[in-house]
Amino acid sequence: MQITANNPDRKSWLPVAENSDFPIQNIPFGVFLTKDDITTIGTRIGDFAIDLSALHQLGYFEDIPLTDDMFMQDSLNDFISDGRKTWRLVRNRIADIFDIENKTLQNNDKHKDVIIFKMEDVEMLLPVDIGDYTDFYSSKEHATNVGMMFRDPENALLPNWLHMPIGYHGRASSVVVSGTDIHRPKGQLMPADAKSPIFGPSRLLDFELEMAFVTTDVNHLGETISIDEAEDYIFGMVLFNDWSARDIQKWEYVPLGPFLGKNFASTISPWIVTMDALEPFRTKSPIQNPKPLPYLRQSGKHAFDIHLQAAIQPENSEETIVSNTNFKYMYWTMNQQLTHHTINGCNVRSGDLMGSGTISGPTKDSYGSMLELSWRGTNPIRLKDGSKRKFIEDNDTIIMRGFCKNDKVRIGFGECKGKLLPAK
Ligand code: MN
Repeated sequence: MQITANNPDRKSWLPVAENSDFPIQNIPFGVFLTKDDITTIGTRIGDFAIDLSALHQLGYFEDIPLTDDMFMQDSLNDFISDGRKTWRLVRNRIADIFDIENKTLQNNDKHKDVIIFKMEDVEMLLPVDIGDYTDFYSSKEHATNVGMMFRDPENALLPNWLHMPIGYHGRASSVVVSGTDIHRPKGQLMPADAKSPIFGPSRLLDFELEMAFVTTDVNHLGETISIDEAEDYIFGMVLFNDWSARDIQKWEYVPLGPFLGKNFASTISPWIVTMDALEPFRTKSPIQNPKPLPYLRQSGKHAFDIHLQAAIQPENSEETIVSNTNFKYMYWTMNQQLTHHTINGCNVRSGDLMGSGTISGPTKDSYGSMLELSWRGTNPIRLKDGSKRKFIEDNDTIIMRGFCKNDKVRIGFGECKGKLLPAK
């Protein structure tokens, strides 16, 4: 089936600013609360939120096989479970309804009143009920930098790293939507000069600039998927800030890996941009040497050219962009991550979230965490207001943005934003 929604020449009758992340070619999916306290599944064009359950009730999805309450829900899980064919039919139809050539809804003020809202009048909610969340560690630059700082510069990458996508199971309960404030976590710390651990607020609070993908139902327990079909099970992507307490992490992570230094909060952007919308931005991923085992081998373009940035905004001050990187730097692709995840028979379900791992590029201004940007605090970052940062300070807001752009369209993710409040 053609992805007619991606037609770069299409224009919407809804006004869209030139540099908007949400032209009619994007059509992401999210969940929002209206002023009347109604929760609905929706999409976005320009600065307008579109109520898909109202569209459905008024018959605009005629001939597409959807249950009556498909969009009258507080999560996208059921819609995602329906599979790629449904996602594509619905996106294509939405593009058609809002095409400037189509007068049906355009000339129906009564319908427009109940379908279209200004973004400022809705509250974005978590788009999926996340059953399980896994975080990978798939940027070679990041893994090398962290290995150099935490372990041994001579052997920064552990021997397994080049042979498989390394990951760990995170905690779904603490994944929050953009705009949610975070409290500085407390925990056990082992300061460099101390003989025994102390308890208190983390002193080395960090962000991790990541992206995450959302899956549909992938496999039954005990079954696996092949690398060639992995892509069919990926619904879309969001921006992802995997907040990390480096001091808690350092003291706890041997021998079983990340735990309380990571699971106190992770923030996602509210709109899931579909893989269909990202299709024009495929690119090649880095050459893998040594060649992975056959079950992880793939050819063709499986990376995506997504510009990413992270900014720090101190309270009552302007923001400073501290990192510019790109999703295409990832050494392991999403297909390889997902295939590897199921290779032992572990079942992956609709609404599961998979983090990429911190995305660091090759240059110092493209590192995806303060740990790397300030090189463990030895090289503080200067902000526009004159202050300096080694790590995140109380009342700093972290803002992440991401977008793809070619000469015809720009497809963006909006913002992934969170403020760090003092420890409770
Ligand atoms: Mn992470």
